[in-house]
Amino acid sequence: MDPTHDNRTTAQRPTPAVNRRDWLKLAVGGGAGLALGGALDVKAVRAASRELKLANISEFTTSCNFCSCGCGMVAAVREGKLVSLEGDFDHVVNRGSLCAKGMSMFPTHASPQRLQTPRYRAAGSDRWVDITWDDAVDRIAKKIKTIRDTTWIATERIGDADVPANRTDAFAFMGGAQNTNEECYLFQKAMRLLGTVTVEHQARL
Ligand code: SF4
Repeated sequence: MDPTHDNRTTAQRPTPAVNRRDWLKLAVGGGAGLALGGALDVKAVRAASRELKLANISEFTTSCNFCSCGCGMVAAVREGKLVSLEGDFDHVVNRGSLCAKGMSMFPTHASPQRLQTPRYRAAGSDRWVDITWDDAVDRIAKKIKTIRDTTWIATERIGDADVPANRTDAFAFMGGAQNTNEECYLFQKAMRLLGTVTVEHQARL
């Protein structure tokens, strides 16, 4: 029908089909039209949105917790709530970039599935129970002590002689790229005192 001779009201006319490409054209054209017509001060809007984005924000640096590469991140917090996580451009490991896992870390922060306390499953039990951090540390310390005592190698036979060994081969320690030099120094000291010679870095696995 010739649209100039269409006597139907708007309500009577069929809704024109708008596909995705048409919709994008309309949206972009409409935005540009508003801006060109002076109805929108683009610079002011950009400045205001940047100001709004940064208002009452405090930032701190942290590391991605997905793998042990130790990529640095900047976390932004507003009123005690995490509002964004992004790669840290000043970090020596990743220079601001994050892999797909690091990019998707933000939702894990408030996930109801996130564990916030240590859990323990007793031998023979079919369920885990929440325990306190103190309890977890005590259990781990006791286990390490028992393993160390029961596997201690005081001497080793070399040739015809028993020579002092003073070590255990029953456990090992593994660090990662998140650890600082100072932490690594302390880890080495602690592990040598405990008697293990097996200290590794995750990047070698
Ligand atoms: S961003 Fe990717 S590579 Fe870096 S620590 Fe996280 S998971 Fe590992």
